[in-house]
Amino acid sequence: MSNENQIAVVTGAGSGIGRSTSIKFAENGYKVVLVDFNEATGEETLKLVQNKGGEGIFIKADVSKEEDVQNYVKKAIEKYGRIDVFFNNAGIIQKFAPFTTVETKEYERIMDINVKGIFLGMKYVIQVMEKQGKGSIINTASSAGIRPEHSIAVYSASKHAVIGMTKGAAIEYANKGIRINAVCPGGIVTPLFKSVGETLEKTGYVPEEMSRVRMGRHGEPEEVAEAVLFLASDKSTFMAGSVVTVDGSLTV
Ligand code: NAD
Repeated sequence: MSNENQIAVVTGAGSGIGRSTSIKFAENGYKVVLVDFNEATGEETLKLVQNKGGEGIFIKADVSKEEDVQNYVKKAIEKYGRIDVFFNNAGIIQKFAPFTTVETKEYERIMDINVKGIFLGMKYVIQVMEKQGKGSIINTASSAGIRPEHSIAVYSASKHAVIGMTKGAAIEYANKGIRINAVCPGGIVTPLFKSVGETLEKTGYVPEEMSRVRMGRHGEPEEVAEAVLFLASDKSTFMAGSVVTVDGSLTV
């Protein structure tokens, strides 16, 4: 397989889109470095990878902590010597709530994980890829990074930041063999997405989101994984700074 011996690092690998993409990387010949702050679910993903005949390691890390990020990059290099692909994906959703009721602590947590986590991951992985002269980074933004949803302004802002950072870094590294792109999922059935219902009810707001998904259904994590694998691979060699939606037309 053409991806044999390629190394992919995935953050948020313990669940949803990260898990699904990790398995798909393994099925396509990549060795995977799985990162999550939930040790149990991260180890579970590693088992699922191994059950498919794949190879990888799990590293526990909180992507918002600089020393943890340095550690997962170091461990990936110690084990495999390089990082070909970085799926910078870990993120959290905001509780749906009126803007003025959002706790400052919640704002900080969302920004720490969704923005600082993406920044730190890129900061340390790009240093490795610069030495290699090659690499592909895919940052997970969101449909809300293009078109905010009601009652989650902070989350939307965090994902707008991911898109800005993706484009900004992409133009710095496009001529150094490092392609940086963003994927924007929307309405994908994962534990994160299912948790939305509970907090949404409390706001009394009836989401219009489904009326914008003209396919009349939500998406599956595997459908995002396919887009990520394409962006990771040498099939997308002229793509840098691209923002790829996988949202069934939600943002249109
Ligand atoms: P999920 O909750 O199923 O998975 C997220 C994973 O990230 C979990 O395993 C969690 O433990 C891990 N994680 C969270 N914070 C972390 C941290 N600080 N350090 C390390 N790991 C951490 O969610 P998902 O739906 O698969 O979401 C993945 C990404 O996709 C997120 O960035 C999310 O914002 C984005 N997204 C999802 C949807 C959707 O509809 N599901 C839509 C738009 C964007």
